[in-house]
Amino acid sequence: MTDCLFCKIITKEIPSEIVFQDDRITVFKDINPAAAVHLLIVPNKHIPSVRDMNPGDEEILGALFSAAKRVAEESGIKESGYRLIINNGPDANQEIFHLHMHLLGGEKMKHPMG
Ligand code: AMP
Ligand code: ZN
Repeated sequence: MTDCLFCKIITKEIPSEIVFQDDRITVFKDINPAAAVHLLIVPNKHIPSVRDMNPGDEEILGALFSAAKRVAEESGIKESGYRLIINNGPDANQEIFHLHMHLLGGEKMKHPMG
């Protein structure tokens, strides 16, 4: 989808700090980090949200988690820990409608559910 910001980041039409990319997944630094390490893990395929996933897209979910594990290790936070978040729709304040997983870490965080 040509008017999607993350699609343009994946194709490098818009610059970003990409830390990992293969044929399925792109990982780049969040422009407005909410933790010392804040990466966005996105499928190269344009899927707006989890609710828009179709049968056959399950492999993409697996690839998101594999990429998360890999970039967490490369960022040196494998042992200290990290949080993975996927916001879906208005109540979760999803802002960019290209499926993405936030990886947050590098510092002690509060529990999101108190
Ligand atoms: P969400 O609210 O889950 O849709 O998250 C969208 C995330 O995209 C936010 O954390 C933004 O800071 C981040 N973001 C927006 N524009 C850019 C950009 N050009 N490069 C990197 N991250 C971005
Ligand atoms: Zn997109």
